[in-house]
Formats: sequence, structure tokens, C-alpha cells
Amino acid sequence: MIDMSPACDMCGSTPAQKWDDHAHYVLCARCSLKYMTWPCPDCAEVLHGVRADEGTRCRSCETTRVWLALPRDTQDEVHRVIAEQNAVKAVAWVRELVGCETSEAMVLLDRLRSRS
Ligand SMILES: [Zn+2]
Ligand SMILES: [Zn+2]
Repeated sequence: MIDMSPACDMCGSTPAQKWDDHAHYVLCARCSLKYMTWPCPDCAEVLHGVRADEGTRCRSCETTRVWLALPRDTQDEVHRVIAEQNAVKAVAWVRELVGCETSEAMVLLDRLRSRS
């Protein structure tokens, strides 16, 4: 007879189940104490990770936060590049300034464009 009870997505042990505070994974009782989901405090996107990270922002919002902490002059310079439609240069700059991946830089630039 095949055991149909689900295995924990994290450690593979049984029994495992869906938990109210974790929408994505089936977890055993032990892992449910460690993993959870929470809404990003800035954009409400559902994030998942270890319990110690609860309440942290999503990567996009964290990137935006770092961006907003940059000096006004630096932000203005990048806005000028955006206005010149030089997307490649703008992405490279944001990557360097914020210290993020290309995909995150592009999300940040999209946000900046839609705000201006
Ligand atoms: Zn587990
Ligand atoms: Zn967010």
C-alpha cells in the first residue's frame, strides 16, 4: 500500500500539512516553526522565508529603500539618464549605486518612471 500522506517540502519527513501562516509549502511540524509567509510591509506582496526574516521587505521594496537613501544629487543624475531614454546606462548605474541585480534595477527604474 502506498502512503499518500504528503511529505514536508523542506525536509521530506512525514506527516506534513498546510499551515495557516505558510501559503506555499506543505511542512512538517518542526519546519512549520521555522518557515512562514508574511506580506511585504511596503507593497503587501506575499513573501516566504525563515521566521527570523518575518516582516522584512521584498527585494524590490528593499532596493527602493536603498535608492531613496542615496544623496539627492545622485538621484537627479540618474533621473536625467532616464529622461534621455538611456535604459542600459540607467540600469548599470542603479546596479552600481544600490548594489543589486539587473532584474531588481529594472524593477526600480520602472517604479521611478511611473512616479515621475
Ligand atoms: Zn520538515
Ligand atoms: Zn514590497
